[in-house]
Amino acid sequence: MSKPLTIVGTGMAGLGLARQLRAMDAERPITLITADSGDDYAKPLLSTGFAKRLPPERLAQRSALEVADQLGIVMRTQTPVTGLDPKAHTLGLGEETLPYSQLVLATGAAPRHPLTIPDELMPRVHTINDLDDYRRFHSALERAGNRARVAIVGAGLVGCEFANDLSAGGHRVTLIAPEATPLARLLPEPLGRALGEALEEGGIELLSGRSVERLETSGADVGLALSGGYTVEADLVLVATGLVPRTRLAQEAGIETSAAGIHTDRYLATSAPDIYALGDVACVAGVNAMYVQPLQASAKALAATLSGTPTAVHYGPWPVVVKTPLCPVVAYPPLASPERWRIEGEGRDLTALAESEDGSLLGFALTGACVRRKVELARAAPALLV
Ligand SMILES: Cc1cc2nc3c(=O)[nH]c(=O)nc-3n(C[C@H](O)[C@H](O)[C@H](O)COP(=O)(O)OP(=O)(O)OC[C@H]3O[C@@H](n4cnc5c(N)ncnc54)[C@H](O)[C@@H]3O)c2cc1C
Repeated sequence: MSKPLTIVGTGMAGLGLARQLRAMDAERPITLITADSGDDYAKPLLSTGFAKRLPPERLAQRSALEVADQLGIVMRTQTPVTGLDPKAHTLGLGEETLPYSQLVLATGAAPRHPLTIPDELMPRVHTINDLDDYRRFHSALERAGNRARVAIVGAGLVGCEFANDLSAGGHRVTLIAPEATPLARLLPEPLGRALGEALEEGGIELLSGRSVERLETSGADVGLALSGGYTVEADLVLVATGLVPRTRLAQEAGIETSAAGIHTDRYLATSAPDIYALGDVACVAGVNAMYVQPLQASAKALAATLSGTPTAVHYGPWPVVVKTPLCPVVAYPPLASPERWRIEGEGRDLTALAESEDGSLLGFALTGACVRRKVELARAAPALLV
């Protein structure tokens, strides 16, 4: 019989791997351990649920129990793994020590929290990075009532998507970020400006070029003190200032890590024997993608490797579709700064081509009607892990 496998994390990476593996091997004992509820849900849908007024239970496709039954696995929920000993091949679960044979770390990434939150404001300041967070924010929004004032800190993918979604759900949204235009890491400035104008036209207050310096109580509201002496008052605050790979377990166990994640080779193997890493926590051959498509490619390759066919992962070009219906956006950012961005189109229908010195395509960004060029340009763009 094949070796028992233990997977830490039941996000799209951990559960995706368990599914792939079960399809290849009906017998292998698999244990999944997660700090959260273990419900099966698609994380990208979290930032589309408020416009449709979806309660959290509608986002969970299956409960942890149903997943365990369906896949014939052992599932341990609400069980944070607190330690890892690669030499002894054991995990620490609080007081309990659990032996493993082969281990996959799929612990994802945690929201970065740059702001100090006064205790009394804790219930009003949120991040949404999993279904449990969505549950909490959904309840807070219900308490705040119709047309709640929501201040979103950070105008990256997550901040922009929630701004569009909450605004479409009838709430009054203020989007605050230090950059000159939204989605600054994905879009060159003219396309970011087009998106920003569309968000404003859609009723979102966009405060670009301003950072949040402090959160404070302001009567019954949360006060956000911004650079330049500006103040915003809100019922709720959503912090969307980026994610940090959860590397602590691996790092403390002496496994090779960096700010980009747990280092693995193309076979998803870490620097410790019998330990693999996958998903947002993994930096695969120098690349931490933090998107679904590369994670799925990794889960497929690792399932084959663990089933006895060593398989290196390949990432094709994976354009990111940003879910901002007010101005559709697709981006496939180049790994390094391009020599130039060549921008074509007019109004909000723009194509930006990231080019090298010799004119070859390194990446691209599309807004408005130009998003239909996604497939054509993805075919022409280089893959990151070939
Ligand atoms: C709002 C939002 C929208 C997104 N939209 C898109 C999109 O449109 N397209 C796209 O490609 N990507 C999108 N992404 C990114 C994508 O969803 C992620 O890349 C992917 O879901 C990451 O999955 P994961 O399993 O690696 O991590 P996670 O989903 O974070 O799962 C980590 C798991 O590890 C568990 N865990 C962590 N630490 C421990 C511990 N110590 N002990 C036990 N368990 C632990 C957690 O409980 C959880 O079960 C979006 C992300 C967000 C937040």
